Amino acid sequence: MLVRHAFLSLDPYMASAIKGRHMSGAVAPGDVMPGETLGRVAASRHPDFAEGDVVISRGGWQLWSVAEPADPALRGMAAALSPGATKLSVPDGVSPSLFLGVLGMPGLTAFAGVRDVLAPKPGETFVVSAAAGAVGGTAGQVARAMGARSIGIAGSPEKCRLVIETFGFDGCVNYRDPDWKQTLAALCPDGVDAYFDTVGGEMLKGVMPRLAMGGRVMLCGMMEQYNSAEILPGPSLAPILQRRATVTGFVVYDHWETMPLWRRLGTTWIAQGRLRFTESVTAGLDGAPQAFADLMAGRNVGKCIVAFDP
Ligand code: NAP
Repeated sequence: MLVRHAFLSLDPYMASAIKGRHMSGAVAPGDVMPGETLGRVAASRHPDFAEGDVVISRGGWQLWSVAEPADPALRGMAAALSPGATKLSVPDGVSPSLFLGVLGMPGLTAFAGVRDVLAPKPGETFVVSAAAGAVGGTAGQVARAMGARSIGIAGSPEKCRLVIETFGFDGCVNYRDPDWKQTLAALCPDGVDAYFDTVGGEMLKGVMPRLAMGGRVMLCGMMEQYNSAEILPGPSLAPILQRRATVTGFVVYDHWETMPLWRRLGTTWIAQGRLRFTESVTAGLDGAPQAFADLMAGRNVGKCIVAFDP
């Protein structure tokens, strides 16, 4: 079918695609810039699609595109990135453009990220960056619908007003204000239970110290990095996002009740030769300072023990 586009979605991932760093693929010079489009069928050779039908497809940055019908058997990423066209029935009074925004990919990002990943509980504090944007603005509203307090982070007083007055968030911090971290702390007196991160970098760094016990962070986007030619210093968090990996906190004290079980099991395994170990034993307390210095310099092998004279 030949489609005349009415709307093209512009999304931050395109910057990464140009740099060859996006999972949807790279854009080479001469390629049509990729992008989701909403348009009307101008001519069709397919029985299910007629002239005038409204379709959504990945038509790219151009006025016209030729599309095949989307393969309904495709699922997940293959379906999302398929160039095929899907027919839309647009309810009266709804702008079709919304299917590229709040009712489309960005809206789904917000909804699924909040409901299925961060899962804020009633009364919890939910924070989202780029809160005035398509994803962030929707995410905070979904969190509120789940009973959480939503606090936004956005880049100007006007954006913060939109976030509070129009989107109904409980508060919003302008991160261009030098005191934004203190304002965030004041708005989140019990800490941040769930952080929907769309920016990474300095903003993530500013929110991390405010995490509540058991807090969750979802890496959704990296606005700060998309604009930079180089990968920013520090460990790259991109693989966590791209591979849907989980990074979680652990403190052994929370698992102390497992100690008797581990002792029984470990003792049995050692007796059976299934668990082996090394110790580096220093005789007498006099040797302890050097043994400790060796441990901290990596010169030990195995568990450092000081053995006192019998
Ligand atoms: P958007 O929020 O409408 O636009 C991006 C916003 O990012 C800007 O308006 C800007 O608002 C903010 N921002 C914060 N720090 C920035 C910086 N250092 N440089 C530039 N902008 C900065 O865009 P969106 O479409 O809703 O997407 C939001 C985020 O979600 C993006 O990171 C996007 O990649 C991500 N996303 C991820 C997925 C996924 O599957 N993981 C899907 C869709 C979108 P301020 O003025 O408030 O700073």
